[in-house]
Amino acid sequence: MTVAAEVAAVGGTMIVGSTGFIGRFVAEACLDSGRPTFLLVRSFHHSATLSSLRHKGALLIPGSINDQDLMEKVLRDHKIEVVISAVGGESILDQLVLIHAIKSVGTVKRFLPSEFGHDIDRADPVEPGLAMYKEKRMVRRAIEEAGIPYTYICCNSIAAWPYHDNTHPADVIPPLDRFHIYGDGSVKAYFVAGNDIGKFTIKSIDDDRTVNKSVHFQPKCNLLNMNELASLWEKKLGHTLPRVTITEDDLLAAAEKMCIPESIVASFTHDIFIKGCQINYALDKPTDVEVMSLYPDASFRTIDECFDDFLAKISVASVVVDKRASGDAIFSPNAPTVVDKVTTKDTI
Ligand code: NDP
Repeated sequence: MTVAAEVAAVGGTMIVGSTGFIGRFVAEACLDSGRPTFLLVRSFHHSATLSSLRHKGALLIPGSINDQDLMEKVLRDHKIEVVISAVGGESILDQLVLIHAIKSVGTVKRFLPSEFGHDIDRADPVEPGLAMYKEKRMVRRAIEEAGIPYTYICCNSIAAWPYHDNTHPADVIPPLDRFHIYGDGSVKAYFVAGNDIGKFTIKSIDDDRTVNKSVHFQPKCNLLNMNELASLWEKKLGHTLPRVTITEDDLLAAAEKMCIPESIVASFTHDIFIKGCQINYALDKPTDVEVMSLYPDASFRTIDECFDDFLAKISVASVVVDKRASGDAIFSPNAPTVVDKVTTKDTI
């Protein structure tokens, strides 16, 4: 059997949330793998993203996961065998209807709910992050109770500067004026490139070793603390930046503000960089598997390479600014700065 024929034999994969931040990476990787890829699309606002995915072979299905009859029809009509959900934080419980549909149809071989972060049965952030984890836990329990084969993707942090008030930090260039360092900056976390989140998610879906397992992304090459991350970015910029300490109390105060979604991100930031939620446990449950052990020959993009991408974006932006000849450039990566460690409680 040829590779194309093998892939076609795999059956359809339906992705929910492909117009979103994480879903886009998953959809791209699914298409790159050559699988029949169906994208459930609730609205057609993101026409550029959708036309690019369609150009690569994706088939678009209009609909929302909270319509059970429609979901059952879609799963049957398109012979969907794998469902990957990457709905955002506000839609986590919508997946309960999708789970009912998957159970009722009975032909889905694997369901990946919208996780793409920490092991939510282990991590214990303060509110309002905890409320989201409670919803994700409800979804896990519903899947397990329904007996649907699942894989939970615990990919840890996206490779980017971990802004404590931005849900999509990989869309933002790392700091150019000063670093916010959480606590003493010594607690490590795993940073994974968006493309790798997509790539390894897709690798896991027809791997027997990941049935009813949590797949933990722990690439040793990308285990860094804030101080190391800042030094790496300074190396790229060619100069140092001031470091401002954001204390544990600052993060808790930002979480307590209940300003959504920023406070959710603040509570996760506290959990990661103060409490060490990505590194304070061992992979000792029978349901744990680690992605580097599963795929030892596959490469991970390093955070160093990801920072090169950000640097390239600055260079392009600088050229545009220079061309405008407007006097003051918006960014100047090589501008001299002062190394200065400031501690403040008023920055967030
Ligand atoms: P986004 O908000 O960027 O995108 C959500 C997507 O889901 C959109 O495409 C949206 O469609 C779609 N959607 C929402 N509700 C429905 C529904 N009822 N039916 C069909 N489609 C729906 O989400 P994120 O990418 O930010 O989050 C996805 C997951 O990744 C979450 O579990 C989140 O916690 C996690 N995450 C992890 C990060 C990390 O660093 N590890 C960073 C960010 C998120 P529409 O276009 O119509 O709105």
